[in-house]
Amino acid sequence: MVRVGILALQGDFLEHFEVLRDLGVEAVYVKKPKDLENIDVLIIPGGESTTIGSLIQYAGLAPAITRFAEEGKPILGTCAGAILLAKKVVDRVVGETGQFTLGLMNIAVVRNAFGRQNQSFEAVVSIEGVGEVRVAFIRAPVISEAWPPTKIIGYVNHPALGKVGAAAVQNNLMALTFHPEITGDKKIYEYLITLAKK
Ligand code: GLN
Repeated sequence: MVRVGILALQGDFLEHFEVLRDLGVEAVYVKKPKDLENIDVLIIPGGESTTIGSLIQYAGLAPAITRFAEEGKPILGTCAGAILLAKKVVDRVVGETGQFTLGLMNIAVVRNAFGRQNQSFEAVVSIEGVGEVRVAFIRAPVISEAWPPTKIIGYVNHPALGKVGAAAVQNNLMALTFHPEITGDKKIYEYLITLAKK
């Protein structure tokens, strides 16, 4: 039985918990390094990436999360979580943010790329290996670049920005710029569970 850990420092952790419960998957909250010892998959939820980043550092979680990734265990970062996995971050308005990230994935992201909170939207995204999912983009970033071994595997078509990167994968690590837990589309979670069983 796969047990999923959800980083529960700030943001959307409860919503992920509820989707997993509905799927009959055991989920637990991760707040400190020891919590990573008994899980097979980690979800880093959406929220506010500088806040979650500060709390990761405060909790001393960065080395443990890095080790978890190096052991080949799946990590899914959604929205702010995707920003935290990225090696490079810029903000649409202020440019270089200089913020802390885990820097585990070879991706560059642009924070708040679609504009303000009220420019949030829902869209259908087609992701290689997952299929079509209806999801919410809330002050979302875009994945502007990925370099080997990392690949962009899903795009969203936006009226103003055109086709921009929304999903990337690097072996056991996955970054999604949107919130699958808001619309409750289960396909992403099912995909994650299969990754954990590999
Ligand atoms: N705009 C947020 C950030 O840059 C991310 C938004 C989200 O996770 N919904 O941290």
